[in-house]
Amino acid sequence: MTAVLRVALPVPLPTLFDYLPPEAGDVQAGSRVRVPFGRGEMVGVVVDPAAEAAVGAKRLKRAIEVLDPYPLLDAELLATLAWAADYWAGAPGEAVANALPLALREPRPLPATGREVWGLTETGREAHDSKRRKGASATLLDALADGPRSAEDLGLALPDWRAAARRLLEAGLLEKRMVEEASMPAMPAPGPALSDEQAAAVAAIGEGFGGFQPYLLDGVTGSGKTEVYLALIERALAEGKQTLLLVPEIGLAPQTVRRLRERLGVAVEVLHSNLAEGERARAWLRARNGSARVILGTRSAVFTPLPEAGLIVVDEEHDPSYKQQEGFRYHARDLAVVRARALGVPVVLGSATPSLETLGNVEAGRYRRLVLRARPSASQPTRVQIVDMRAQRLDHGLSPTLVHAVAACVERGEQALVFRNRRGYAPALLCHDCGWHADCPRCDRPLTLHAGRRRLICHHCDYTTAVPAACPSCGSANLSPQGQGTERLEEALAERFPDIPVVRIDRETTRRRDAFGDILDGLREDKPAILVGTQMLAKGHDLPNLTLVAIVGVDEGLHSIDFRSGERLAQLVVQVAGRAGRASKPGSVLLQTHHPDHPMLHALLRGGYAAVATGLLEERRLLDLPPYAHQVLLRADALGRAEVDVFLAEAHALIGEPKELRVAGPMPAPMPLRAGRHRGQLLVEASTRARLHNFLRPWQQALAGLPAARKVRWSLDVDPIDL
Ligand code: ADP
Ligand code: ZN
Ligand code: ZN
Repeated sequence: MTAVLRVALPVPLPTLFDYLPPEAGDVQAGSRVRVPFGRGEMVGVVVDPAAEAAVGAKRLKRAIEVLDPYPLLDAELLATLAWAADYWAGAPGEAVANALPLALREPRPLPATGREVWGLTETGREAHDSKRRKGASATLLDALADGPRSAEDLGLALPDWRAAARRLLEAGLLEKRMVEEASMPAMPAPGPALSDEQAAAVAAIGEGFGGFQPYLLDGVTGSGKTEVYLALIERALAEGKQTLLLVPEIGLAPQTVRRLRERLGVAVEVLHSNLAEGERARAWLRARNGSARVILGTRSAVFTPLPEAGLIVVDEEHDPSYKQQEGFRYHARDLAVVRARALGVPVVLGSATPSLETLGNVEAGRYRRLVLRARPSASQPTRVQIVDMRAQRLDHGLSPTLVHAVAACVERGEQALVFRNRRGYAPALLCHDCGWHADCPRCDRPLTLHAGRRRLICHHCDYTTAVPAACPSCGSANLSPQGQGTERLEEALAERFPDIPVVRIDRETTRRRDAFGDILDGLREDKPAILVGTQMLAKGHDLPNLTLVAIVGVDEGLHSIDFRSGERLAQLVVQVAGRAGRASKPGSVLLQTHHPDHPMLHALLRGGYAAVATGLLEERRLLDLPPYAHQVLLRADALGRAEVDVFLAEAHALIGEPKELRVAGPMPAPMPLRAGRHRGQLLVEASTRARLHNFLRPWQQALAGLPAARKVRWSLDVDPIDL
């Protein structure tokens, strides 16, 4: 028997590939190799350096070379990736590719792990003092006036700084150095004395150091969860261990990073999407060689190597951005728990609104729950009130009660947030004379009117068209916008409150990378203002003068067909409500609805999120829904409806007589047409994970072999979070 290399290649196939070892070099599991593939070459990762050849070794090609002096992926990460590929029905090669930064998927030797540090030269200093430069150059010179800064740091503060840096480097105004160790001599700043609850949480988790145990840290916004993380990270640092801290996409504000760096006094590696690929690779390698002690990042940072792991934290564990929705469909929170088990370390899942999956795990005794009830920074609890919209005269969707509350708030010199999770002017445009409405031709859904840009835009596929001057169907000029988006609310409020700044925060107004931060900085002052915004505002931004939150459009969430909509709505309301009230100023929250008697709203008012969650969990148990059932969703789409139907029918036939499985469908997707493609799905459920996966593996193989599978795009989603 010849020993061969078994290699994971970045292709969407459920297989690994065998090669003969290269002529030279020692090959270990986890090393990158360059191999011939088809007519070209690829970079793969060796998962087994001494596998038994599945076919005659004579037919195998030889690997070209080993790329690294040491394996990039250690045994733990390799094993976890193999587990993850199997669990989420992904291709093993794609799982491995997800784990490697882009720059390391290229056939190049490893970059040095030093930090790129930028500073002013003499000439640069003069240019700064004389203020001759304008625009991006001036901003960059300003940013460096107090001393040199690392590229990561600049990337967070000024996302588009590189072009300016190159110009200034050529002009001799800047210099670039590579430094091996982080030059962070900073003294850690002391935090506040922990409350009893915080101290108890730190003690409980601290006891578990050195072993695997998941914890749910359940505490409202402002209850001091971050302080608990910080105390635990300090402890891990003191033991010489690494910490991985995951945050959702919107949670990674420069504010958070600054707070961590100041408090911990060590370099905090940040893996975020604005990072240049070279920097990401260097930060990843610093984690790999152990020199990075604290790693902060979004979803894909869950794959960071942690040879000296001490602690994993997942902040806002309920956030849907932890689930990757294309390609390899893993869930970073769940993967974090799996890694913590493999590494033998505690994992802390923090949230003000824990997911029902996590609460189910608490109930089953797998996770330990620690609760923070008090809000150290707020003296009084937030007051939540329902505003009954029925029989009220609405002004652009705003009830008089709501408008009066906003008026009283700004009269006190405070800030109000009107929350509406829809951008644009109006979600639909209707002809009053004949009933025509503007639909996306590629999705069959209403187009959103964007008044400022004078366009009708599809929020599902980005199709855009001009606003017609007259109805294309009957010629009438009587076209009217239906419903309210943030743009319309902004207009209505600006008209009603001409002397108060009205600030809109959504994807439109924050298109420029640093615009969001700039807007928020302007609102930290003690001045009245009205904010209108989408869920970009739901989390993490400390606005001390914000005391009123008014939520508009709650009703849409009450009537969705998705079984998760109740959970999502309650989470959103509680998260947005958490923005209101700080210190001496009590906060209040208004929920404007046509259904003041809805049981979920009542539960929310009476018992908060915990009460809603208990009710929802009970409902899920009765209806056999997750977390009490386990699901896999087969999705398919194609230009033709027939191809989708044929494929799904064959996929269904493969299941045969389902033993201990429940099958729903084939059925159209919630959006049966999107971007011109017809979409359908088939849902399979089992009462245990083992049953689901025993069925899933052979089914996946059989699906790949169906001739009809070649005529559609299809994917499997294990534990889907939207159906
Ligand atoms: P969370 O992460 O739960 O939203 P934070 O940890 O950010 O809460 O705390 C919210 C605010 O309360 C912060 O300004 C923080 O500095 C302050 N804070 C937290 N814990 C304490 C404490 N024990 N004493 C005083 N202030 C605290
Ligand atoms: Zn018409
Ligand atoms: Zn569309």
